[in-house]
Amino acid sequence: MNLDASGKQATGSQGFDYLIVGAGFAGSVLAERLADAGKRVLIVDRRPHIGGNAYDCYDDAGVLIHPYGPHIFHTNSKDVFDYLSRFTEWRPYEHRVLASVDGQRLPIPINLDTVNRLYGLNLTAFEVESFFESVAEKVEQVRTSEDVVVSKVGRDLYNKFFRGYTRKQWGLDPSELDASVTARVPTRTNRDDRYFADTYQAMPKHGYTRLFQNLLAHPNIKVMLGTDYREIVDFIPHGHLIYTGPVDAFFDHCYGKLPYRSLEFRHETHDVEQLFPVGTVNFPNDYAYTRVSEFKHITGQRHHATSVVYEYPRAEGDPYYPVPRPENAELYKKYEALAQARADVTFVGRLATYRYYNMDQVVAQALATFRKLQARMASAPLDSGVSEEELTASR
Ligand code: FAD
Ligand code: UDP
Repeated sequence: MNLDASGKQATGSQGFDYLIVGAGFAGSVLAERLADAGKRVLIVDRRPHIGGNAYDCYDDAGVLIHPYGPHIFHTNSKDVFDYLSRFTEWRPYEHRVLASVDGQRLPIPINLDTVNRLYGLNLTAFEVESFFESVAEKVEQVRTSEDVVVSKVGRDLYNKFFRGYTRKQWGLDPSELDASVTARVPTRTNRDDRYFADTYQAMPKHGYTRLFQNLLAHPNIKVMLGTDYREIVDFIPHGHLIYTGPVDAFFDHCYGKLPYRSLEFRHETHDVEQLFPVGTVNFPNDYAYTRVSEFKHITGQRHHATSVVYEYPRAEGDPYYPVPRPENAELYKKYEALAQARADVTFVGRLATYRYYNMDQVVAQALATFRKLQARMASAPLDSGVSEEELTASR
């Protein structure tokens, strides 16, 4: 039944050209693009809502929250920003984070103020550069998440800001994780205290769920929620399958479980206007949670109450993060080979391609995937997979 990436011959007049598994950014962007190209699309999600992990909603107090943790949009890609701007207006927002260290709340990424306040110094931007050089450790080859940090800011700052947080978040020592994980957080010699430095930093003005509603509003798209695709895949005529769930689950974990890190979220509402001075406070060294985020900073909502979320890392539970380390990359390669052999299925998204992607990178990947599918629609025979060079990711 599901044979053809173009969906041309496969479905007949009653069926769908594409069955898309997962209504997060990967699935929803592809649904919109394919529907716009005249294809009939069925998108299913086992959750009772669209948006995947970016879903937002109002809690009982009427505060707009992100049930799956704080989602801040940022990108360097004009293409991605322009594309999404067709489905949402924006509210400018620059995220700021403080880390609770040695009884102070200090800017993270580490910057000039972090160093001066932590050590009671009064260094200039120029002097702090020499300071970093004097404490940095020589690392021949930067391979791990420990290497990245100690080679830039030395052991003490590493221990205070990164070691404990990373061990808590991943259940692994930074020396066991790829450099790319802690490299997400830069070091600065100036006083810039924004968490991200991207060209475009903004939140969807009416929330992510509204953005997804707009993406999926096309008459060619049917949405089925609360449904695992396995319940319907054999009964609903469809052409090509697009899968955005965990890749190991698709293949029944035939090579064993691919590790994904999970989180438990503790949501709270407080009857005060504001609890924290910034959107997120990190706790590298205390408590079982890694960070707390206060949504009103992020969404700009005005309300007499405020809602926050604490994140508790977990080994078991819904898969949220791929775990970047060599042995997992090896295992993923085996699943990737199976995926590439399936010309009838396209794998896309953070879980299906086992990449620690931000939202904009997933959108870029989905747009690149669409261009591939479009090329296939125009010409048979078909190949499979997306080339990574096509990505216009921001990091
Ligand atoms: P998902 O959003 O995970 O969507 C996949 C969907 O597939 C899910 O809804 C799932 O229910 C569905 N599915 C899976 N299996 C099946 C099945 N068998 N049948 C039916 N449906 C199925 N990115 C940023 O850019 N900025 C941030 O600030 C940010 N913060 C984050 C904070 C947290 C705590 C987390 C976990 C992630 C954060 N991200 C952030 C990353 C962002 O969530 C992802 O990049 C993005 O949501 C991935 O989209 P996706 O479509 O690939 O996957
Ligand atoms: N990190 C850290 N201390 C911090 C912030 C981040 O050690 O105060 C490390 C940690 O390993 C974390 C990674 O850097 O998982 C990436 O941080 P980011 O804020 O990008 O994580 P995400 O928002 O994706 O959970």
